[in-house]
Amino acid sequence: MLYSARIGNPAAAPGKGDTASEAMNTAALIVAAGKGARMGADRPKQYLPLLGRPVLARTLAAFAEQAKIGRIMVVIDPQWRDTFLAATEGFPDIEFCEGGDSRQESVFRGLQALDDDTPPDVVLIHDAARPFISAGRIDAAIAAIGPGQGALIAVPVQDSLRRAEGGVLTESVDRENLWRAQTPQAFPFRAILQAHAHHAGENFTDDAALARHHGLKVVIVDGDEDNFKITTPADMQRAERLLLSRHNDIRIASGMDVHRFCEGRKLILGGVEIPHDRGLAGHSDADVLLHAATDALLGTIGAGDIGEHFPPSDERWKDASSDQFIRHAADLIARRDGVIAHMDLTLVCERPKLSPHKKAIAGNIARLLELSPERVSLKATTSEKLGFTGRGEGIMAIATATVRLP
Ligand code: MG
Repeated sequence: MLYSARIGNPAAAPGKGDTASEAMNTAALIVAAGKGARMGADRPKQYLPLLGRPVLARTLAAFAEQAKIGRIMVVIDPQWRDTFLAATEGFPDIEFCEGGDSRQESVFRGLQALDDDTPPDVVLIHDAARPFISAGRIDAAIAAIGPGQGALIAVPVQDSLRRAEGGVLTESVDRENLWRAQTPQAFPFRAILQAHAHHAGENFTDDAALARHHGLKVVIVDGDEDNFKITTPADMQRAERLLLSRHNDIRIASGMDVHRFCEGRKLILGGVEIPHDRGLAGHSDADVLLHAATDALLGTIGAGDIGEHFPPSDERWKDASSDQFIRHAADLIARRDGVIAHMDLTLVCERPKLSPHKKAIAGNIARLLELSPERVSLKATTSEKLGFTGRGEGIMAIATATVRLP
């Protein structure tokens, strides 16, 4: 079964007008059907949060920003279709299709899906878990393609190589002429489609190996060390460090909010319903914690406060879930190419007792912001029966956001 769908309207894609004819000829095929078992996470690594955006969204952004790329086809595991759709929200013109049991089969299916009424002339096949591919390397790969000739992004082997048996050295291996293959691997579309069709069901390491076996010439284009593939939790940490190192304008801002208790409403804190005999009064769902967090995030980019973006006078926000407020703040930061490095949150009230719910609340906020859980800290305290919180009249929330801009 093969399906392919276009999300949104491709004609609406921004920034591609002046090179439209050139753009329509080059496609990126992103392989995102893998299970990523080595990560040991609750979902495949391409969907894991990487400082405010899923890994896949960062990879796609690298290609979507390229005027030369006219189409982007993502091969996915349909089991993760909803996660994929959530991860690609905001991309105007992403196509996707269902992958197969092996990487090679997934690539073949992606190539077949591209072979419609407007097939590309050139295709760049890229791993979803390499989000740090640069515009320069994409350009270089495209430039290296010729008739009957593909290109492989690769880095030279720098370390000396040894062969060992049972932990004992047996010989040295000459590292000269040895390269570590990366992606994208770029090919004339028709030639690589034919090569895949011819070798369907066989098992090649990658597309360059398959292409070469089929008689295509494959030239090497210098890659870079930052274009590594995220495979293990250590790679994920390396990816976070690399991204942070590119964002050195550090912004710290605070947010504060108070809502009073009232009868007959659910108590929602951080997007989580907390069992209690009263809820909080407010125009929206009165999620005092998300409001404080939203104001802190807006503060990091000087974007005003939550009331300016979502006025209580506006009927649209009546009983609205505050998820969308914090997502909006996160989107504004993403549009500045910012990353959210940390959220520190405090709730102040006498009742209900919040310690049993802290993990769920912090986890939900991490999910909303596409952050790893250790980047969201939540504390709960009382005010020793002093003041309005002490008298049980309402809940106060205090938030500090750390955001880094390029
Ligand atoms: Mg509020």
